[in-house]
Amino acid sequence: MSIKVNYEQLRDGLEGKGVTLVAVSKTKPLEMLREAYDAGARDFGENKVQELVGKHEELPQDIRWHMIGHLQRNKVKYIAPFVHLIHSVDSLALLKEVNKRAANNERVINVLLQVHIAEEETKFGLTPDELKELIASEEFAAFANVKVVGLMGMATNTGDEEKVRTEFSALRKFFDEMKSKEQPGKFEMDELSMGMSGDWGIAVEEGSTMIRVGSSIFGARNYNI
Ligand SMILES: *Cc1c(COP(=O)(O)O)cnc(C)c1O
Repeated sequence: MSIKVNYEQLRDGLEGKGVTLVAVSKTKPLEMLREAYDAGARDFGENKVQELVGKHEELPQDIRWHMIGHLQRNKVKYIAPFVHLIHSVDSLALLKEVNKRAANNERVINVLLQVHIAEEETKFGLTPDELKELIASEEFAAFANVKVVGLMGMATNTGDEEKVRTEFSALRKFFDEMKSKEQPGKFEMDELSMGMSGDWGIAVEEGSTMIRVGSSIFGARNYNI
């Protein structure tokens, strides 16, 4: 299968569903991203700042770059001039840094708050209570250059589909609950980023608006090279 065919099949399968397909290109070389771009992909996701910056410099400027991986505060400045959406904001301190760097660049950066829904301790994210506390804080109220546009979550990495469905369904419920707490221009529940190669079908059934798909487009990753 070619990248073009993989990408087109996914895109066609999502047609009319209102779901954005983010092509997760981490570890993949530029020529593979160009192939996806030529097939029509404009949303690309990376999980490492250095790689994201490097690819942004080399590829067409109409690409919307998504930061999907855990983000360290000291690296926000490198992506602040151009990043389209940060999916992985999981603390007030990180949000504060994004706000500051966005202000330096005279822009507003859109972010998603990552919610911890999986069983694994290793996955990042806020608990629902922490998230509610964050958006109700005075500090958050003062951020003028960052806008929360939705939530992101990763399900447990398991073959147990019912478990995955339960986790996605719970996140969608929380997303809908948070709509009642919207603060226009500041905290809006427009996007729910959930679903990857192994579970995006379930995620879409459970109300995802944005899926992050890597290996089903580009093939398996080899971290040893
Ligand atoms: C790598 C990654 C993906 C894509 O994973 P695949 O299983 O290859 O589709 C999605 N989301 C995040 C946060 C990732 O790090």
